[in-house]
Amino acid sequence: MVNLLDLDRQGLTAFFMSLGEKPFRATQIMKWIHQQGILDFDTMTNLSKSLRQRLKECANFSLPQVQKHQISVDGTRKWLLQLDADNSIEMVFIPEEGRGTLCVSSQVGCALNCHFCATGQQGFNRNLTVSEIIAQVWIAKHQLCSEYTVSNIVMMGMGEPLTNFDNVVTAMKVMMDDFAYGISWRRLTLSTVGIVPAIKRLKEECPVSIAVSLHAPTDSLRDQLIPINKKYPLQQLMHACRAYTTGKPSRHITFEYVMLKGINDSPAEAHTLVKLLKGIPSKINLIPFNPYPHSPYQCTSIDSINRFRNILMHADLVTVTRKTRGAEIEAACGQLAGKVYNRREKRRDDDTHDTKNII
Ligand code: SAH
Repeated sequence: MVNLLDLDRQGLTAFFMSLGEKPFRATQIMKWIHQQGILDFDTMTNLSKSLRQRLKECANFSLPQVQKHQISVDGTRKWLLQLDADNSIEMVFIPEEGRGTLCVSSQVGCALNCHFCATGQQGFNRNLTVSEIIAQVWIAKHQLCSEYTVSNIVMMGMGEPLTNFDNVVTAMKVMMDDFAYGISWRRLTLSTVGIVPAIKRLKEECPVSIAVSLHAPTDSLRDQLIPINKKYPLQQLMHACRAYTTGKPSRHITFEYVMLKGINDSPAEAHTLVKLLKGIPSKINLIPFNPYPHSPYQCTSIDSINRFRNILMHADLVTVTRKTRGAEIEAACGQLAGKVYNRREKRRDDDTHDTKNII
């Protein structure tokens, strides 16, 4: 059985050709699945009866089950999606004036172990398949119906998208396809901790907008917060970022910087950050740290965030302080958890939170 949600246009074309069908069947079925939300072959009336019968024999649509759907007082929505008996993930929709942003997960847990991130504390179980990634968009679109539209997608949920490269790229191709969701590369942002070789590959294979989780302006501090920095230190990362923007004048990199009280938020660090980003078309997102159970960090005060931001703005860096959304339903940055059957490690065993690590 082929799960048709696992295939982008190229994959569907190859699939239909293997059945002896014309390539245009691929775009017909994409419209049914992704635009109309139809997952029943009998409703697909522009396919012949015999083709529908054949499809029933060799293809299906398999997607995660919605286990829980929560709506925050600010309108932010969070879904808990069950993938299999051991694993579930979370995704978030953030409605704003004139746009709606869907925050999509790419892995069950995360292997990178960034010290300030709830997902990182869960450990890692597995990559999501293409269908598990694209199903998040499918479910959000069809559950939000006409109430809201998904105008922007950010690969900023659970996991490090660039360590699940092939599946993430195939799913993003479906997100961008005019016969599916038609999201332009400007409105599709992949957030990465900075997997240098994969940033280079992304530019060649699927150059969407990128956000880089920087969080520190020096290697000594970044090594402590983000262990993968030891493998891909700042000089290499900045080089990859510069290369990503070259040849594309309209492109900039968004740098994310989580504000951790007394750790990375001093004026001296702001000045070092200015120097680091010199010559890279950048936009900076300052993210107030969102606490989660047992986290050792605190958020910088509003005054200190403003002081930090002013230093960056005086150096002509476009800087925005991200609004915290959906915090009371734990839908904010770094709070997504889900359920992870953790094969790699177990860091906390006293957590009574209902989305805890289950072993
Ligand atoms: N692994 C990718 C995708 C996750 S995006 C990446 O690191 O970019 C989630 C963003 O939220 C990242 O910038 C992450 O560093 C940030 N984040 C993680 N924990 C956080 C927390 N507790 N408070 C605020 N932001 C956090």
